[in-house]
Amino acid sequence: MQQTKTILITGASSGIGEATARLLSGQGHRIVIGARRVDRLKSIADSLSLTGGQVVYQPVDVTKLTDLQQLVDLAVRTFGGVDVIINNAGVMPLSPMNALKTDEWNQMIDVNIKGVLNGIAAVLPVMNEQNSGQIINISSIGGLYVVPTGAVYCATKYAVRAISDGLRQENDRLRVTCVYPGVVESELANSISDQAAATAMKSFREIALKPEAIATAIAHVINQPSDVDTSEIVVRPTASPA
Ligand code: NDP
Repeated sequence: MQQTKTILITGASSGIGEATARLLSGQGHRIVIGARRVDRLKSIADSLSLTGGQVVYQPVDVTKLTDLQQLVDLAVRTFGGVDVIINNAGVMPLSPMNALKTDEWNQMIDVNIKGVLNGIAAVLPVMNEQNSGQIINISSIGGLYVVPTGAVYCATKYAVRAISDGLRQENDRLRVTCVYPGVVESELANSISDQAAATAMKSFREIALKPEAIATAIAHVINQPSDVDTSEIVVRPTASPA
């Protein structure tokens, strides 16, 4: 039988994070979810508990290290440790650089880069103490190549790639994975305030995968034997041109 694990997921109130929480809970893993919309977290936790899932939640803003430390504390208090963290929370307000949406640039840097670093910083002491653990960071195909309106978003996702690879090379006891999803149906594009970028995104999303496709890849990575580190995984729609 597959080993059950304690798994933290940030940004689990919708999209890929929610689908991953649901899939992993269904596989018998213990789940700890965080995001800002606590009403969403509660309804996900309630519905999973009804089917026998062990799920706890806490409001988390990933831009605050203390919020992530408190989420890790919740996992340790409730389940005795942390086997996996999925640093998934992200925002994507695309725009051309000439629009000078500097607040949105800063928001992407804070959530997509610093949020991942905060998750790593919160969990490393516990994983080092345990001498085991797995850190899964959600980048994007935007972490592999750049498109117009995506300069800053892609920069944050390139950073996630660099952070993941550096972390992996420095640790021979921890498994580290960087996930590169292609286009996926979710609420991610709702944060685009630039009209032209929002319109372009609508046609780009016509071939979008369901979030469950990414959840399945993440579950595969987690359920590999402990000496197997799937360090990178790219999941695209079959019809994806790029
Ligand atoms: P969603 O918008 O559905 O999910 C994003 C999640 O991030 C939400 O749960 C949101 O929760 C959370 N979040 C945003 N800001 C914060 C914050 N400051 N603190 C805590 N949580 C936060 O989009 P996706 O599911 O698509 O996105 C998940 C990840 O996948 C992101 O990193 C995204 O960049 C990446 N990705 C998505 C792709 C796609 O096409 N959808 C493609 C490639 C990568 P709340 O608002 O409640 O805090």
